[in-house]
Amino acid sequence: MKRQKKFIVNGEEYIFDGTSVSLMASGEKTSTHKLSYREPNSQRSSNLKTLCLVINNSCNLCCEYCFANKGKYDKADEFMAFETAKKAIDFLINSATEHSKNKITISFFGGEPLLNFKLIKKCVEYIETFEKIKCDYMLTTNGTLLTPEKVKFLQYYNFDIMISLDGNKEFHNFYRKYHSGNGSYNDVVKGIELFTNKNLLNARITINNHNPEIHSYVDDILELGIKRITFAVDYNISAETFYLFMESLKKLMNKYYNDIMYGNYYDITNFSSVITTIALHQRKLTFCNAGISYLTVSADGKYYRCPRFVGKYDFLLEIVEETDKVKEKIEIFKKTLKNNPGERNIECKNCIYTFICGGMCYHHAIMAGKNEFENVPQECYQRQILFEGIIELICKLPTEKRRELLLFYTKLWNTMKGDTPL
Ligand code: SF4
Ligand code: SF4
Repeated sequence: MKRQKKFIVNGEEYIFDGTSVSLMASGEKTSTHKLSYREPNSQRSSNLKTLCLVINNSCNLCCEYCFANKGKYDKADEFMAFETAKKAIDFLINSATEHSKNKITISFFGGEPLLNFKLIKKCVEYIETFEKIKCDYMLTTNGTLLTPEKVKFLQYYNFDIMISLDGNKEFHNFYRKYHSGNGSYNDVVKGIELFTNKNLLNARITINNHNPEIHSYVDDILELGIKRITFAVDYNISAETFYLFMESLKKLMNKYYNDIMYGNYYDITNFSSVITTIALHQRKLTFCNAGISYLTVSADGKYYRCPRFVGKYDFLLEIVEETDKVKEKIEIFKKTLKNNPGERNIECKNCIYTFICGGMCYHHAIMAGKNEFENVPQECYQRQILFEGIIELICKLPTEKRRELLLFYTKLWNTMKGDTPL
């Protein structure tokens, strides 16, 4: 299939070639690009590289839309024991060493992981005893339990921190409340202010039925000194709200272009991942690393692909002791994934954006009552709007501005190098 699309921007014609993942002015030659599974610049590592530790399934907030049912994963409060974490960390380090690698990533997740800060410290202290291992640390937090002592520790170890923030005070407080019913916004802002290096922070917006107009409040987040923003749509969003979000997404891409032109650089990771994928001609063979180079361990010591599968026993891979069986399951899943999204799903096969997309989120497909490789039309549509808008944005940017933008990303990302599931 000829995976090409023409874009006319400011009277100029550009061709996006989805097979080689390149964008060129009309008349330029398509770059030649090898189509192998393990091409050098593929984003996907096929060896286990990252572990997400769900160190507790309790939370001090009770956000209505939480996929983990208010952090609990439908279970009683549970805190991971150090012995469980140690077994998982040893498995990760052994897997890396077997493949002659010395870089790993550990991501701390909950519930609210800062409720189990002691365990975070203990795990980091343990990992740091491995002199030959370089570990990148990540944390996903609601931001309400940050203290000077915790921030000092997180900054010292250069944690890449995803902090939930649903926009400005009004939007954030609508869902992100304490059990008392009070909103958590003021405490999150106090926590953010404790950071001297705010480049470590990534504000995570959940687009829900109350805050679809993201373009209208991105500046409120940037004003807090945060330079990285990631958005994800709540699966339960209504069709009407989804439409509002799509309109707002287009406005946000327009705003992003204008801000770049005025030299106001920041990172919306949903945009930068597409921009860098195209700039580096990367081919995404899966949408995320889950189940291959990224695994999750639940508080009770069970392996799953990603935190969203925790507690869904049909998707339990193995218990933490059974490392050989985990390896076997990874190999089986790799085979199931075949070579690329087009081989898993006919719609992806016929899609221009196959290789900047990577295919559907397995969890979203399952939650929508489908087979794990089937498409969820709403998400698929959203991605195509995003890809199209970002390609137009790249075409519009003068070469100098494109360079400056990539340089900005590089400098920002050098301050935190963890491996995300996406
Ligand atoms: S999930 Fe949708 S956008 Fe992505 S490759 Fe498949 S068809 Fe294209
Ligand atoms: S994209 Fe889906 S399957 Fe992958 S890590 Fe995210 S929720 Fe899990």
